[in-house]
Amino acid sequence: MPKMTDPYMIDMQHVSHTFNGNGQPPRHALQGINLSVSNGEFIALIGPSGCGKSTVLRILANLIQPQTGSVQIDGISPKEFTAQRRLGWMAQQPALLPWLTVKQNVALAHRFHPLQAAPQMSPDEALEIVGLIDAADAYPESLSGGMQQRLSLARLLSLDVDLWLMDEPFAALDELTRSALAQELSLRWQPLHPTVLWITHNIQEAVLLADRILILSPSPGNLIADIPVDFSHPRDPDQPEFYALVSKLRQQLVGKIQYT
Ligand code: ADP
Repeated sequence: MPKMTDPYMIDMQHVSHTFNGNGQPPRHALQGINLSVSNGEFIALIGPSGCGKSTVLRILANLIQPQTGSVQIDGISPKEFTAQRRLGWMAQQPALLPWLTVKQNVALAHRFHPLQAAPQMSPDEALEIVGLIDAADAYPESLSGGMQQRLSLARLLSLDVDLWLMDEPFAALDELTRSALAQELSLRWQPLHPTVLWITHNIQEAVLLADRILILSPSPGNLIADIPVDFSHPRDPDQPEFYALVSKLRQQLVGKIQYT
């Protein structure tokens, strides 16, 4: 009999979470949020600072247990899912080990994923793809911010995990590097097709990459808009339809959440 698979890769129902204020008033991060993401979907999560976007990611990564509601990833709990090492994380500050070379940083990630029987690609292949093969023997501190994020991307690519959680990974980069990396990612993500939850403040980046753009309300966070992006990949920001959707979203965001 065929295995019954969960219809959703991510299924959050009525999830609320309040942080203890430690002497300050409690912080209501999320209030009754429902979030369903299909397998292989690329979701951009947009909302004002402090609305609970990172809390969503941290709940999925099993770093926070929400006080109410249910959370499943591919039909199992975040705890079980992370124990199976099927999750990759990329943040604004790349978590690289300074005493290891570029190539060793990629190779080390494989050691932390022992359940991964045959990695999707070798460290060399991953570095080749992100354009860092010539820097394979360099140390992270000698790389620019953009190159360090390329290295983080190489680690994700080579692990071939099922779920990528990305917390503003390009936010600290200059505009040109950022847009080059977003273009790069839109190409590299396609063949592997993991499910991606991507936090961004950049509307253009969201339209370039995402299948759906979800907008969260100011704190406590809840979904206030779910916008499909139907353009085929690779997308061209110079196309009039692309630009029209970016403008429409910008207006929508200004009206709804006084987005800056
Ligand atoms: P975002 O990612 O949208 O900027 P966060 O999920 O980081 O928002 O935070 C949501 C709310 O929860 C904010 O008010 C933030 O100050 C608060 N918060 C987040 N983490 C903690 C924590 N560890 N302790 C106390 N409050 C927290």
